[in-house]
Amino acid sequence: MSRDIMLSGLRQNNLKNVSLRLPKERITVFTGVSGSGKSSIVFGTIAVESQRQLNETFSAFLRHRLPKHERPRAERMANLTAAVVVDQKPVGGGARSTVGTMTEVHAVLRVLFSRRGEPSAGPTTAYSFNDPQGMCPECDGLGRKIELDLDKLIDPDLSLNQGALALHPIGSAAWQIYAESGLFDPDKPLRDFTDEERKLLLHGSGFKVQRGRYQNTYEGVALRFDRLYLKRAREEVDPEARPMVRERTCPLCGGTRLNAAALASRIDGRNLADYAAMEVTDLIGVLEGLADPAAEAAVESLRRIDAIGLGYLSLDRETPTLSGGEAQRLKTVRNLGSSLTGMTYIFDEPSVGLHPRDVHRLADLLVELRDKGNTVLVVEHDRHMIGLADHVVDLGPGAGADGGRVVFEGTVAGLTAADTPTGRMLRRTTVIKEPVRAPTGWLTVADAGAHNLKNVTVRVPLGVLTAVTGVAGSGKSTLMRRELVARHPDTIVIDQSAIAASPRSTPATYLNAMDALRKLFATVNRVEPGMFSFNSTGACPACKGRGEIKTDLAFMDPVTRVCDVCGGSRYSAEALSYTVGGRTIADVLAMTADEGAREFDLPGVGRLGELGLGYLTLGQPLSTLSGGERQRLKLAHRLRERGKVYVFDEPTTGLHMADVETLLALLDRLVDEGNTVIAVEHDLDVVKHADWVIDMGPEAGRNGGEVIFEGTPAELARASTYTAKYLAKSLD
Ligand code: ADP
Ligand code: ADP
Ligand code: ZN
Ligand code: ZN
Repeated sequence: MSRDIMLSGLRQNNLKNVSLRLPKERITVFTGVSGSGKSSIVFGTIAVESQRQLNETFSAFLRHRLPKHERPRAERMANLTAAVVVDQKPVGGGARSTVGTMTEVHAVLRVLFSRRGEPSAGPTTAYSFNDPQGMCPECDGLGRKIELDLDKLIDPDLSLNQGALALHPIGSAAWQIYAESGLFDPDKPLRDFTDEERKLLLHGSGFKVQRGRYQNTYEGVALRFDRLYLKRAREEVDPEARPMVRERTCPLCGGTRLNAAALASRIDGRNLADYAAMEVTDLIGVLEGLADPAAEAAVESLRRIDAIGLGYLSLDRETPTLSGGEAQRLKTVRNLGSSLTGMTYIFDEPSVGLHPRDVHRLADLLVELRDKGNTVLVVEHDRHMIGLADHVVDLGPGAGADGGRVVFEGTVAGLTAADTPTGRMLRRTTVIKEPVRAPTGWLTVADAGAHNLKNVTVRVPLGVLTAVTGVAGSGKSTLMRRELVARHPDTIVIDQSAIAASPRSTPATYLNAMDALRKLFATVNRVEPGMFSFNSTGACPACKGRGEIKTDLAFMDPVTRVCDVCGGSRYSAEALSYTVGGRTIADVLAMTADEGAREFDLPGVGRLGELGLGYLTLGQPLSTLSGGERQRLKLAHRLRERGKVYVFDEPTTGLHMADVETLLALLDRLVDEGNTVIAVEHDLDVVKHADWVIDMGPEAGRNGGEVIFEGTPAELARASTYTAKYLAKSLD
């Protein structure tokens, strides 16, 4: 008999002494507004503790080599099982990881070719682009070659003394070899070099030169680049050298990654590269015709990929190019193939990127996982996915300090009747907004043909809110993020990706409010502004401005404790001796954005309240924000701009139905202030609120790539596309 997972006294992040009992071998869905504490329970507590307990069962030798996890803040955590986190993080593996290698279908197809291919190229490894026996010798199985772009490495208008060599700054040791060895006139612009001199500068080698007191072996600029940056790093070019290289398809294998013997081996006229380039849906048909056990094994995996709505992908698609939702669904497929039971699977909004048409297929797969004897924990906002739950835990009622409590626990029917933000939203029906705004003009994207787009020409209305809809893989992102942006480069794309910022960034630094605060404190107290920076003179000497001290004990979990010198404030005693209006700088950073905006004149901070982020403290590290919080913070930066075109990529990701209302109010404001807003979105509440809809399809991949509807939401509800059908259904 499996006992329930018992959790009590949970206090990670904003959790307020939460206690929970979660049934095993059931599906539990966690709901609640963004920032209410769902991730803090599921990822921050359960997943971390499972991993930590698992690590403890290993030998000291092994444990020492595993990443260490701190114990989550909790009193009791019992009956946990090993956890597998299936999230939206990109699939790693670099250029050698493809849909085929990741799902292991490629390996099955290699077995098929080694047996059935004519002529056979040899054992399996002979068909692997990741094995010397099968890889193209020209590109080592990468399918493309990285080459030096000479125009970027040298500037012909400059002389050596003027810094003509981009990678070798004037005065550097390498520069001295070229400029001071007497081989060249260091004041002559490179374009005036004779052919002989140019050849020597770029490709010369095999002799010694004198550089001051040293003797060096001469190596031309291009040769040196090749040795240092290209030979050593074929897969990942050094960031420093990246601007100086260009990529092209490998001329020998034509991008197929395989060597001649592997490519010559065929089954019914097709080689392995042809298989890998087909869409999964089409490949299933071809393999079914072969009547071979290896082909059948591949078909079984391919059907799962298709079932989860990814049949438009090809096996040769590199995994780093997949979207977060696609990556998560592929990981789900991989886990379904395994026969493990008794595990805890944790999903982070698995419906992301899925059209309402395909959500039920995903739901079936989660049920399948449960019925194999696993415990399934899901963070979700989608009504259909919530409906799947055997057990629901609703967090809230609000975000941050206003959340962190369990406001409902029980069945979906119970939640739908409950007086919580989620319960109220589940009972609500929404209607199509009327009237819609009239466009102030049109922007045209003509003859768009990237990826699967079929030479699309589409008009985007200016000055209104447009929803771009269609099943996953129909071409929405390709049209809006790639083709529109390429034609109208001032388009601003806002997604939920991490904010490129230092680990010490906070809302105050991100919105440039920190500078104003430092100046204010400096002027009032007549000291340098650096005194009020924990990255500078004001840092606490004990923790160096980190606010905490991490102790790594060899055979125990690392322990982080609040710095007892500064009490976690990050500031030195001297910095904390200065005040403004009775408050130290640390007191101000501990204030919420709402409080800060009331008491001080700080740029940008007031906008956080308008965006529903007034509960963040001025000093909270940005790394702790959720995706939805991040997206809104990025917007805070932009709110005063006019006449711009914004593309939001699935802005409702991570958002509760109540958060979606806040988001829509925000998008309305952007439009009313004279901007054009485009949302690539599946959420029907967003579609109903739009002024215009562009629906893509009819299907995904090769069978998509067309605009199948353009018009108002009310017109769409009477049309016959998939989106139209689900829109009409949601109005019943
Ligand atoms: P949800 O998953 O419901 O969106 P989270 O559990 O991610 O919510 O966050 C709950 C609250 O805790 C939010 O206010 C968030 O900003 C805060 N938070 C999350 N992670 C951290 C962290 N590592 N340190 C401090 N605060 C955090
Ligand atoms: P959507 O945004 O509607 O989900 P996408 O624009 O992402 O659709 O994809 C449309 C088609 O283009 C699909 O067949 C997809 O596999 C393909 N595609 C998207 N990105 C890439 C890429 N980086 N490389 C190759 N094919 C891609
Ligand atoms: Zn090649
Ligand atoms: Zn300190």
